[in-house]
Amino acid sequence: MSMKKTSFTTQKPLLETYVVPDPEQLPFDNDQIKCPKCKKLQEAKILHGRAEYYKVHQCTNCGYIIREGEWRSTR
Ligand SMILES: [Zn+2]
Repeated sequence: MSMKKTSFTTQKPLLETYVVPDPEQLPFDNDQIKCPKCKKLQEAKILHGRAEYYKVHQCTNCGYIIREGEWRSTR
């Protein structure tokens, strides 16, 4: 029985250009917002992406995810 040569040409190289932005490395502004669920005032970060700002914050009290549409800055 002879071993068949196996080709790995179908294996694709990793796409190094496809990089998900790391939130830890983005510049940010501090803001203070109010949770729409439990009304708790808290500090939140507005991340500065390359083309847009990211307003996403998880409430420290109830865990609710506050997105841009519900972002109510108190400053
Ligand atoms: Zn909350």
